[in-house]
Amino acid sequence: AKAKPKKAVYQIYSDNSFAPFEFQNSNKQFTGIDVDLLNAIAKEQGFKIHFNFVGFAAALNGLSSGQADGMMSGMSITDERKKTFTFSNSYYNSNITVAVNKATSDISKWSDLSGKVVGAKNGTASYDYLIQNKSKYGYSVKTFSDATSMYSALKTGSINAVMDDEPVIQYAIKQGQKFKIPLKSIPEGSYGFAVKKGSNPELIQMFNYGLAKLKSDGQYDKIIGKYLATSE
Ligand code: GLN
Repeated sequence: AKAKPKKAVYQIYSDNSFAPFEFQNSNKQFTGIDVDLLNAIAKEQGFKIHFNFVGFAAALNGLSSGQADGMMSGMSITDERKKTFTFSNSYYNSNITVAVNKATSDISKWSDLSGKVVGAKNGTASYDYLIQNKSKYGYSVKTFSDATSMYSALKTGSINAVMDDEPVIQYAIKQGQKFKIPLKSIPEGSYGFAVKKGSNPELIQMFNYGLAKLKSDGQYDKIIGKYLATSE
């Protein structure tokens, strides 16, 4: 099935450092699951996109203000966000979880974070979770606008832990980062492509049709497999 594009080029906003979903490879080219999936869907459905890798909170702002036609950014489908955005069908399941330094950290339960500093990216599900549970566990929260600065703060020890999406932390560990996941992950639903409520409805339709096609013809598994050895 197909829907008809209404714009010559759709502006897509995304995160800038969220491997394996969007990140710069060694040639400084942006790549990743989100990039490959949306490009394949656009090709399948016959519409054109332009990716803007502005960071997660900036992408949310761009989508709310109407600068972005769509957002593809490992974005969790949440009831709160559904008030302002319309989501596609989900394309990946994910949890959020805590990461600490492998060698030096002795965190083994949430209450061990008491008095510690936990980092999260602005606007994320992890940030919301940390704020909601702050008084219960007694940590403080430090926010970052991008993952690069957040993970380097964890590495150097200026923060004690971070909270982020589990596949992202697992990927970093697989790439050789010396982190570990000391606590049970928190289910945070699944990722969807989003538009601003009431705008570009055809984009959601085209995404859903394209995703179904990619799932049925093996392209979806191929893209996931390119970045993750085993699919979810
Ligand atoms: N999945 C998380 C969220 O939607 C984080 C997304 C991201 O950091 N790119 O809040």
